[in-house]
Amino acid sequence: MKYTIAGFIAGILLIVSSAFQNDLKMTNQTDHHPYYSRTDTTKLVLPDSTWKSILDEDTYLVARKAATERAFTGEYWNFEGLGTYYCKACGNALFKSDAKFASSCGWPSFYEAIRKDGVTYVNDFSHNMIRTEVKCGRCDAHLGHIFDDGPPPTYKRFCMNSVILEFEPEK
Ligand code: FE
Repeated sequence: MKYTIAGFIAGILLIVSSAFQNDLKMTNQTDHHPYYSRTDTTKLVLPDSTWKSILDEDTYLVARKAATERAFTGEYWNFEGLGTYYCKACGNALFKSDAKFASSCGWPSFYEAIRKDGVTYVNDFSHNMIRTEVKCGRCDAHLGHIFDDGPPPTYKRFCMNSVILEFEPEK
């Protein structure tokens, strides 16, 4: 009887631990949704309901509702790692770390994008300001704004939200 109970408990532990392992594997496998790609640069058009279901809430609010993360709170505003920044919503390559500069604005700032058509620009007259919105060239996600007070050689400042960026370190 003693052995039966011990066996029963061992069996339960085995089931629980294997379920946990499956869960971990699942998480790794589903980090990126099926539309995510770092090589496909063709336009990605999805209904809002799909974006809402495949992005986490903060990313969705910035990407699709043009929300702005609070200054000095994002993951990358004072981050200096070497590598590439991708659009977290779709995988499009956006910025290289060598175009990133230390800005006092509280958001990650870059002076140029990787590809000219990797981003698009839209006039933004919201909040009683005249600004130029920067969007992902592939999925149209809101990334942030661009200003003319950046460093040489472009004198541009791409003022981005960390939450829509995904950093991949150099190998
Ligand atoms: Fe994108």
